[in-house]
Amino acid sequence: MSEIKHNWTKEQILAIYNKPLMELLYEAATVHRLHHDPNTVQVSTLLSIKTGGCPEDCGYCPQAARYHTDIEGNDLMSVQQVKAQALRAKSSGSSRVCMGAAWRNVKDGEEFDQVLEMVRTINKLDMEVCCTLGMITENQAHRLAEAGLYAYNHNLDSSEDYYKEVISTRGFEDRLKTIDNVRKTNVTVCSGGIIGMGEAIEDRAGMLVALATLNPQPESVPINALVPVEGTPLAEEKPVSIWDMIRMVATTRIIMPETQVRLSAGRTEMSREGQAMCFFAGANSIFAGDKLLTTPNPDVNEDMKMFEMLGLNPQKPFIKKMQPASVEAKDSQFEALGEKPKWSRPEHKIERNEEAKQKAKPIQ
Ligand code: SF4
Repeated sequence: MSEIKHNWTKEQILAIYNKPLMELLYEAATVHRLHHDPNTVQVSTLLSIKTGGCPEDCGYCPQAARYHTDIEGNDLMSVQQVKAQALRAKSSGSSRVCMGAAWRNVKDGEEFDQVLEMVRTINKLDMEVCCTLGMITENQAHRLAEAGLYAYNHNLDSSEDYYKEVISTRGFEDRLKTIDNVRKTNVTVCSGGIIGMGEAIEDRAGMLVALATLNPQPESVPINALVPVEGTPLAEEKPVSIWDMIRMVATTRIIMPETQVRLSAGRTEMSREGQAMCFFAGANSIFAGDKLLTTPNPDVNEDMKMFEMLGLNPQKPFIKKMQPASVEAKDSQFEALGEKPKWSRPEHKIERNEEAKQKAKPIQ
């Protein structure tokens, strides 16, 4: 197997992204076969355990409180609710559950303790557990690891340059800091981004540079196509072309050969043929369930029909890394320190975010 390269440049990545498509596909599929089973795709289930009311201003996100979209918020789900949903997901072929909470950052206290219990519960169902909870401190990362967390998701979203056009309430370096905190534990890193936010191809390459030059590279990279939602600043963005998605997946596969590349949001707009080409180009995970946090997603039965048609098998859990042990709360070696992650609060102005905020209906 080839060595993993960590010194990618934007120019090298652009040269791959812009290759004639057939060459790009051939190269990506070749790398994919060397590192993964090409007939296996992981089915993951994304659960929104706490929806809406987020204080951040991510321009693509209907859960940001300031844009007042039609999203109905909910309080943190109970452990029993999460367990029931995880069991349902497992019975329909999922090997991984990703729990998302619309928080800026994790706060020590009852709610975080409840999330830790959810992690223990799902790990005991022999499923990979991933969480996406916003910024976390090193101590919080250790507590999640001790509970049996398999992966932590914290997306870079875009290139460092374009990030400033999408989010003003935190900086790119804050994202890297949380990833760094996760890396101090044995929890794997899931980090990717979104295309179709109005960024240039150079920004897509810039984001891939930031991910591929991490050492180690993220074990998991979700590639999302923007799902524009009315009321958000990016509501008017044009849909991403399937060819862009295929190029993005193929490039990610080539530069991060060992990584699980996840075909994430935006699949409802993709034909089966388009998705098949993404799998050929190296995507080896999809998210199942009719909702991806808050945006539409194909029905799981439809996905299973697609798998059958393409001769794909759902991936078993813990293929790449052993199942972590879960330490019970009473035996924990880590105390809650009550600290908050420090973040840069850049608060620069983004015109379209400001406009969307002005248009928002007043909060009832
Ligand atoms: S993407 Fe996450 S952090 Fe950003 S507004 Fe939405 S829920 Fe909040």
